[in-house]
Amino acid sequence: MKKKSIKPIKPITKYIIYPVIAGVIIFVLQLIIPNIWKNLAKVVSAIFIFLGSSVLIKWWVFILLLLVVLLFITGIIFLMIIFGKKPGLHWSDYKQDGIDGVLWKWDYDGNTLAADGFSAFCPNCKKRLLYSYEGYNSKYYCDRCDEFRFIKRGNHEDIIANLYREIERRIHTEEWKENFQKR
Ligand SMILES: [Zn+2]
Repeated sequence: MKKKSIKPIKPITKYIIYPVIAGVIIFVLQLIIPNIWKNLAKVVSAIFIFLGSSVLIKWWVFILLLLVVLLFITGIIFLMIIFGKKPGLHWSDYKQDGIDGVLWKWDYDGNTLAADGFSAFCPNCKKRLLYSYEGYNSKYYCDRCDEFRFIKRGNHEDIIANLYREIERRIHTEEWKENFQKR
């Protein structure tokens, strides 16, 4: 079965239809309420007269009210400064950390860690580490410092999977913020 599409009202038709509807409503109202415009004008002028009238209050009440208003405004401005200008430290800013003696860097793909976004660097000289898989072990080696920075059982995928969970843990415990500020 073919789906029937609902045609939206064309903008030009909208400009004609709505004023016509409004006109009809006003016409009907005029029939129901006699002298609608005269009465409406009376109501509006009554409101303005009310707002323009003076009220007698003691000076100390006036000053007190003024102080309350000033305090309220200052409070709002203060809150705006505190909450408005605070540099937002978001977990997505957390993109590197020292984990198991390696400086790991990574990326996010939307709300999750990008599986292919992990890179290992030497914590000492910051050079990218060389990876090798020997005897069921993953080895991360810095050729500049001539040192193995990280050796662990498992292949590269195992290491990344563990890293993934560790980063996730640090985000959940907010531990990352401390590490972030130490940098
Ligand atoms: Zn190094």
